[in-house]
Amino acid sequence: MEALRIAVTGAAGRMGQALIEAITATDGCVVAGAIERAGHEALGKDAGELAGVGRLDVQVTDQALDVFAAVDAVLDFTAPAATVEFADLAAQARIVHVIGTTGFTSDHEARLEAAARHATLVRAGNMSLGVNLLTALTRRVAQALDADWDIEIVEMHHRHKVDAPSGTALMLGDAAAQGRGVLLDDVADRGRDGQTGARKRGDIGFAALRGGSVVGEHSAIFAAEKERIVLSHIAEDRSIFARGAVKAAQWGQGKGPGSFSMLDVLGLSD
Ligand code: NAP
Repeated sequence: MEALRIAVTGAAGRMGQALIEAITATDGCVVAGAIERAGHEALGKDAGELAGVGRLDVQVTDQALDVFAAVDAVLDFTAPAATVEFADLAAQARIVHVIGTTGFTSDHEARLEAAARHATLVRAGNMSLGVNLLTALTRRVAQALDADWDIEIVEMHHRHKVDAPSGTALMLGDAAAQGRGVLLDDVADRGRDGQTGARKRGDIGFAALRGGSVVGEHSAIFAAEKERIVLSHIAEDRSIFARGAVKAAQWGQGKGPGSFSMLDVLGLSD
């Protein structure tokens, strides 16, 4: 069987390097393209050497369309503005576009939905097996409990992270809202500061901590009178997200156009 040809956008980034390493370590998959934006210092460098896995004879380029035309899937952990452009190109090339980027606006979301008419999009604010299981559990617990149980989502990440709450925290909040049969936008309480007044019954609260080199920690807390349930996940290494992304690229082959999540990939979408 022919190897699955996979390209990586943002190849020089923290996740880009982890993705190149994960593809190289997966039987039946090869790095077939590496993309950075025009003017980036990594252009022309060897993708394998950049990621510390030895020479792969794949040069980092800014010619995304040429690369997309020659691969089966692209793994994209970059920035929202870049990812919507890549989604258009993935739609033209009719390939699998695995999106780990977080921080999309509703305009971005609409463009991604349009691209999913031709590309196979697999998106998740977190690609790890553990967090997706945590998401399924959070939905289940929220379904079982009424609004006497206050739901709070707490997350911590490294000091370089630029968006808050994290995509994963929003995923957990959304799962909790689904469990309760409400829309997250109607009940989310983000960024408390000053005289906020008492907590509103039924709200789902968020708190974001930033510091050091923390890869990612998330808790969904269900707090009632005199008892609390805390569901937590701790990511120790970026390789868990990268392995999930490679799995999504494999799963997406032959699925046809559409917008899918990691819950679909892992069979947890019930
Ligand atoms: P990072 O180290 O800043 O890497 C982002 C890379 O994308 C950089 O190399 C950046 O280049 C590049 N980039 C930006 N715009 C581009 C464009 N137009 N064309 C090509 N490349 C472009 O960030 P990171 O920590 O790897 O995280 C990247 C994204 O993944 C964030 O949104 C983060 O929240 C998300 N993430 C998701 C998961 C998940 O499981 N879903 C896990 C971890 C991280 P420059 O240096 O030129 O800006």
